[in-house]
Amino acid sequence: MASIAKVVVEISLDREFDYRIPAHLQASIRVGSQVTVPFQSRELRGFVVGLANYSAFADKLKEIAGVVGEKPLIPDEIMKLAYWIADYYCAPIEHAVRTVLPSAVRKRGAKHKKQLVASLVNETGCPACDNLPPKQQAVVETLRQHGPLTVSELKERSGCSESPIKTLEKLGLVSIEESTILRDPHAGMELLRTEPFELMVEQRTALDTICAAMDQEKPGTVLLHGVTGSGKTEVYLQAIQHALDKGQGAIVLVPEISLTPQTVDRFRSRFGDCVAVLHSSLSDGERHDEWHRIRNGEAQIAIGARSALFSPVENLGLIVVDEEHEPTYKQDESPRYNARDVAVMRGRIENCCVVLGSATPALESFNNVRDGRYGLAEMLMRVDDRSMPLMRVVDMRIEAEKEGRASIFSKELVQGIYDRLNINEQVILFLNRRGFSASLQCEKCGYVAECAECSVSMTYHKRAHKLLCHICGAEEKVPDRCPDCGDPDFKYAGMGTERIEEVLGKLCPKARVARMDSDTMRKKDSYRTVLDQFKTGKIDILLGTQMIAKGLDFPNVTLVGVLHADMSLNVPDFRAGERTFQLLTQVAGRAGRGEKAGEVIVQAYTPHHPAIQAARSLDYEGFCSQDLEFRRELNYPPFSHLVLLTFKGENELEVMAAADRFSAQLERILPESVSHSPPVPAPLARAKGLWRYQIMLRCEHTVKMTRPIRHVQQTCRLPKGVTLTVDVDALSLL
Ligand code: ADP
Ligand code: ZN
Repeated sequence: MASIAKVVVEISLDREFDYRIPAHLQASIRVGSQVTVPFQSRELRGFVVGLANYSAFADKLKEIAGVVGEKPLIPDEIMKLAYWIADYYCAPIEHAVRTVLPSAVRKRGAKHKKQLVASLVNETGCPACDNLPPKQQAVVETLRQHGPLTVSELKERSGCSESPIKTLEKLGLVSIEESTILRDPHAGMELLRTEPFELMVEQRTALDTICAAMDQEKPGTVLLHGVTGSGKTEVYLQAIQHALDKGQGAIVLVPEISLTPQTVDRFRSRFGDCVAVLHSSLSDGERHDEWHRIRNGEAQIAIGARSALFSPVENLGLIVVDEEHEPTYKQDESPRYNARDVAVMRGRIENCCVVLGSATPALESFNNVRDGRYGLAEMLMRVDDRSMPLMRVVDMRIEAEKEGRASIFSKELVQGIYDRLNINEQVILFLNRRGFSASLQCEKCGYVAECAECSVSMTYHKRAHKLLCHICGAEEKVPDRCPDCGDPDFKYAGMGTERIEEVLGKLCPKARVARMDSDTMRKKDSYRTVLDQFKTGKIDILLGTQMIAKGLDFPNVTLVGVLHADMSLNVPDFRAGERTFQLLTQVAGRAGRGEKAGEVIVQAYTPHHPAIQAARSLDYEGFCSQDLEFRRELNYPPFSHLVLLTFKGENELEVMAAADRFSAQLERILPESVSHSPPVPAPLARAKGLWRYQIMLRCEHTVKMTRPIRHVQQTCRLPKGVTLTVDVDALSLL
């Protein structure tokens, strides 16, 4: 039996501490146990992250003081996953442990909520309960009608204060007891139960492939490539039913839960209370309760964003990662893990099947199918043979020539909008930039307002009449004359959703337009509210940023307009083409989901770009083959793994010097198969006041990069003002 426990304490220290396990606690301590330990002069809470028989500090060790709770909070399998994450993503184990256990559960004092519940002692009625004074009578009547109620509900419903309730308690007619109540985040939002659909042929085949995989001894991973509207969700639902039938549970990951309320509702209305929903707008208490509903087996299905992957679902049979290509699955703080990839790992550890679903799978996943690592299920037809929307690309350069100036709306798009409004059909317009204009430029000297802290131009927001930095959030007043040359004339360069809204108001003043971006969606429920209004036809045109690109299913939308398709191409990133293809395909997929056919009008300045053309001709495979060729030539992922080192600090020279020193040491021990760049300024050279320098490494095997990096991290001390982030399989190269 192990005599030493490695404990990560609940304060930000990047290491484990050894403690002796006292004899009387031997039996109850395992990896994942929550314990109390003496630490300096305090007692702290921590987690056991490992056990050992030997410690280098054996003679100085303190003893563990006690164990908290009966069951270890973190099951073994999830603990294993935490270790894998720490190792693979070059992160401290403490960060990994924090990641797998929500803080609402981990925090001291987080516990079940208790409330006072009142009920009638004699429910069938007793003579003493009649002929009471009116107030008491009202209380009794309310309880007869509703059954047991919390004291606060009882007060509200009977319209009485606490005193008649207390009197009734004294009389022995009403009992008041403390009981645990679950905070139900969905209270008041009951959904109609749905029955499974009769599957389409392709859905049937896909489900069979998935179920066959689930029934295997080593279930593995299946990529479900299904075009938009092919009915992927129904396949997930029935695959989950298959798991439930076998007595197993399931986890469903969705990219951003607040943006996919429709999807979540579909799971809840099929499986009811078996579903625990974990999302960021839950209060700590709700999160704590949902987590425990999973841990004690009341809920067999967990659905949520990234971190729901670590839900302690027992006897896990299936993990679904919906929209697996979404970059939001990558966490942008340590540990910088990708939930899609960790899902595959969890599948391996727990021997459960993983389904990755998308209309536009990431090239990494596509390539894994090609290499035989993942199975494949394909659905290339829409449900009920609905046609895929027809996409037209409008060349905005020609449009500008014709009009004599750059225009925001092409003739085709304006006509398309008018046509739909006339017959009461709906329109979605997409532009991936909020605000009014990309920048404000002096007509005379060309001065552009830039953020003082970041190397980007400030975005002009008209309604707020402010310049905003979209990187750090800094706000500035709009100068009334150019700070450089004093000229009072400014020109808007580029456009944002706010400006589109204004132009739209002039083009079609009668149309009801709603704008959906992070400026207008500040409140918790605004997203749901607008979507409900759109669904019930109270809005004609929905205008938004990438918030509206995914998961929405509105049958009456027959036109989707994309206002500046090449905006996402002009990014210094080898994935720019892939992102653009995905975005266009996803946005286009919002059109024609009902009986009526859909049309998509894409405005672009580079209409012949392969990503735009492939999206137009619905040619996923063609796009992949072409882009993979380019990636292979340049040895980019998926043909290599990529690690990005970013050095940040206030003093540019210091950052540069630190990066150089690190690079020199690293170079000495890197294996030959690793290719690496010298330190260079990041594309986003400065953000939030910090200078940024990067080193990019590429190699087929991640460990060949991460081992040496770890080694240099331990031996090469960075100067005080400089920090280093290590991003394994980085998705953002800025
Ligand atoms: P995807 O996620 O692949 O874009 P969805 O799962 O949203 O597609 O399905 C599109 C629409 O088709 C939804 O409204 C869904 O209810 C409906 N649907 C799915 N499967 C079937 C089926 N077998 N029969 C009838 N309708 C279906
Ligand atoms: Zn800024």
